[in-house]
Amino acid sequence: MTTKTPSSNLSSLGAGDVAHLLHPYTNLEAHEAQGPFVITRGDGVYVFDEDGKQYLEAMAGLWCTALGFSEPRLAAAAEAQMRRLPFYHLFSHKSHDRAIELAETLISMAPVPMSKIFFANSGSEAVDTAVKLVWYVNNGRGLPAKKKIITRGRAYHGVSIAAASLTTLPANQGDFDVPIAGIITTDCPHYYRGARDGESEEDFSTRLAGNLEKLILAEGPDTVAAFIAEPVMGAGGVIPPPAGYFDKVQKVLKAFNILFIADEVICGFGRTGNWFGCDTFSLKPDIITLAKALTSGYLPMAAVMINQELYQTIRGQSAKHGVFGHGFTYSGHPVPAAVALETLKIYRERDIIDHVRKVGPRLQDGLRAFAGHPLVGEVRGLGLIAAVELVRDKATKAPFDAKSAVGAYLAGRAQAHGLILRALGNTVAFSPPLIISEAEIDELLAKFALALDDTEAMVAKQG
Ligand code: PMP
Repeated sequence: MTTKTPSSNLSSLGAGDVAHLLHPYTNLEAHEAQGPFVITRGDGVYVFDEDGKQYLEAMAGLWCTALGFSEPRLAAAAEAQMRRLPFYHLFSHKSHDRAIELAETLISMAPVPMSKIFFANSGSEAVDTAVKLVWYVNNGRGLPAKKKIITRGRAYHGVSIAAASLTTLPANQGDFDVPIAGIITTDCPHYYRGARDGESEEDFSTRLAGNLEKLILAEGPDTVAAFIAEPVMGAGGVIPPPAGYFDKVQKVLKAFNILFIADEVICGFGRTGNWFGCDTFSLKPDIITLAKALTSGYLPMAAVMINQELYQTIRGQSAKHGVFGHGFTYSGHPVPAAVALETLKIYRERDIIDHVRKVGPRLQDGLRAFAGHPLVGEVRGLGLIAAVELVRDKATKAPFDAKSAVGAYLAGRAQAHGLILRALGNTVAFSPPLIISEAEIDELLAKFALALDDTEAMVAKQG
């Protein structure tokens, strides 16, 4: 337990935080008044705050700690690698055993035939790399006008400049002078919000694929290079694709020779009940971005997979320019690479995919049991990713005014009951560690029920 400073109700850690940290995704004004929520340790699916209070971490941090918060084998793998070779790089023909082994392992697991792995340190870097590769390749192919990238409404692909340009959420773009030129946006595939009266899911998907085709024709197919999509949209509100959506979209992309980038940063490594979201939804991408559960979030690492056809052009471009002029100091860093190798080994040994398939329905059915609750508009998800969307009026689907911050209130009440959720507007997201047990899922659901009732009471009180 830390001491509280006499002049405020913040602990000494909290005061230091407010004085010195610029927090991502935080209202900085509110933060100065309320201070931070300081976590000091983890154990399995639980974390503990500075006062020792226990929380079930139902977001796996930021959709990442698949093996929970205390896997000793990952700590041991990091320590052993730190002692043997704490750093080496991959520039100028240099290499090291961990990067080689990890690249080989990832290629062997790829959901479609892939040729090479490029390592980065974050999902954003992986997405920026994918965009640069698309441009580099189309220049190499003699298609210098074919450069535009298509993203979707409510997409999340990160915050670096290209990635933020593809992230179509207002807070990520407002006043940051993004998107950059050449980014175009097609529909968000959210059936509950986007479907017309009486439209079936298949018909909704057909209409969206038709809109995509119209967009490409209006822009000029010779100017459109790639389409990027999360298999299940994450930070935009956990939106699984409607029936038939990706089949129809992929047909359009193929017809216009448009590359497909699958952003598997959240879905990759079991979240949807298969190794990849690409397996779950039969995606055939040319490029795949990976991060988060690659190391169970224990160390920063991301990867970009490319197919042989792209590699051939990149190879030619490197000869033209003397080198492939892209790479980060920490691309393929041996310590996260060692942790990633151990993570993948543990997923296999414990058959994490089978576990997600067994326990996933407990979470999904358990959350769907709240569908009749007066505040719940939609419950959606699959595997171990889910969301509950809160609405002001169930019949009309009328949303709460964003300013009412009902989602944030619910997440706050959950926290008071010892459950960490994430509010995405007036939707609350669930993405627990993949190792979660059925008993822990029951505990999660019981705590969520309390928070939902508290929220209903608050809404009733405020009218
Ligand atoms: N892509 C997706 C689908 C993501 O969910 C995220 C992060 N939540 C990113 C990219 C960006 O990853 P990072 O925060 O590691 O840059």
